[in-house]
Amino acid sequence: MRVLPGPLLADRTTLRLGGKAMVEIVVQGEADMDELAGSLDERTTRLGGMPMILGAGSNILAADHELGLVLIRLHGGGEPSLAQQDAGRDTLLIRVPAGLRLPRLLGWCCTRGAKGLEPWAGIPGTVGGAVAMNAGSYGLEMADVLERVLIWTPGLGCVWRKAVDLGFGYRWFDSGLDELVQLVLAVELRLDRDEPDAVRTRMRQFYGRKRQSQPVTMASAGCVFKNPSSEYPAGKLLEQVGMRGYRRGNMAFSEQHANFLVNLGGGTSSDAFALLDMAQERVERRFGLELKTEVRVIA
Ligand SMILES: Cc1cc2nc3c(=O)[nH]c(=O)nc-3n(C[C@H](O)[C@H](O)[C@H](O)COP(=O)(O)OP(=O)(O)OC[C@H]3O[C@@H](n4cnc5c(N)ncnc54)[C@H](O)[C@@H]3O)c2cc1C
Repeated sequence: MRVLPGPLLADRTTLRLGGKAMVEIVVQGEADMDELAGSLDERTTRLGGMPMILGAGSNILAADHELGLVLIRLHGGGEPSLAQQDAGRDTLLIRVPAGLRLPRLLGWCCTRGAKGLEPWAGIPGTVGGAVAMNAGSYGLEMADVLERVLIWTPGLGCVWRKAVDLGFGYRWFDSGLDELVQLVLAVELRLDRDEPDAVRTRMRQFYGRKRQSQPVTMASAGCVFKNPSSEYPAGKLLEQVGMRGYRRGNMAFSEQHANFLVNLGGGTSSDAFALLDMAQERVERRFGLELKTEVRVIA
């Protein structure tokens, strides 16, 4: 376990915004959990900080001022492994550490000929973040492939929970556990077997689609608002109220996809929040619809 004082959220989020937290605790895996429990207890009680789990920070919009947070992060190392040698002739059950980034998991799937996750090509988060958000793209959500999840809480320790016992919805996940800190440590995913070349080809196609429609190389946090419904995608609503490309300071709604808030370099969270307020107000006034944030806002 490693403890770092004063970590900057701006260095840990893909939107490149956010002030200093109190401390960051980086854990390697199950072996560190007892120490984490003690450290969390001390730092949250003595310093009065709020614990917050951070993955790759790719779904976070954080304020630039000092934040009373005790960040908990999983070390990103580790590789997927076969959870069950003989899961079936055509299927694979793999165990994946939650700190692993999705692009690395997808790279592993390409090499091993594991089919199923191709629509996620281009999502930059970690596996743990993808569970917490029930991340999804082109019709595939985490809930569709998840078999079991290993969760650590200070009160219960490490527990495996079957996917059928969990709640999932549009960018939310409910473990059913009643604890403030719920750290996803590992998952088991059920995938199909296929030829590595076929998996790679499909992944490239999905990534190509994403790159054509989203500013994947800019500093963003993905879609900033949830779609009020499939009939009213947030991006279309934002376009219709003139927010596409709308800029304030060095923050803007992307020209390429109106539902992506982008940091053009040196942007501030106050400009980001002002843009969000303006967009919500315009959509409410014109369509009577409430836009709710998909990004996790830390203010
Ligand atoms: C260019 C771009 C494209 C994107 N495209 C998509 C997309 O197509 N679909 C999609 O759904 N999202 C997309 N996103 C958003 C984001 O990548 C996903 O939501 C991702 O799953 C977040 O993972 P993270 O590790 O970055 O989590 P973070 O942003 O660090 O955290 C998000 C939430 O998850 C919680 N969390 C993180 N790790 C854990 C853990 N181990 N245990 C428990 N809780 C945890 C955090 O506490 C927080 O509440 C995109 C983002 C970008 C920048």
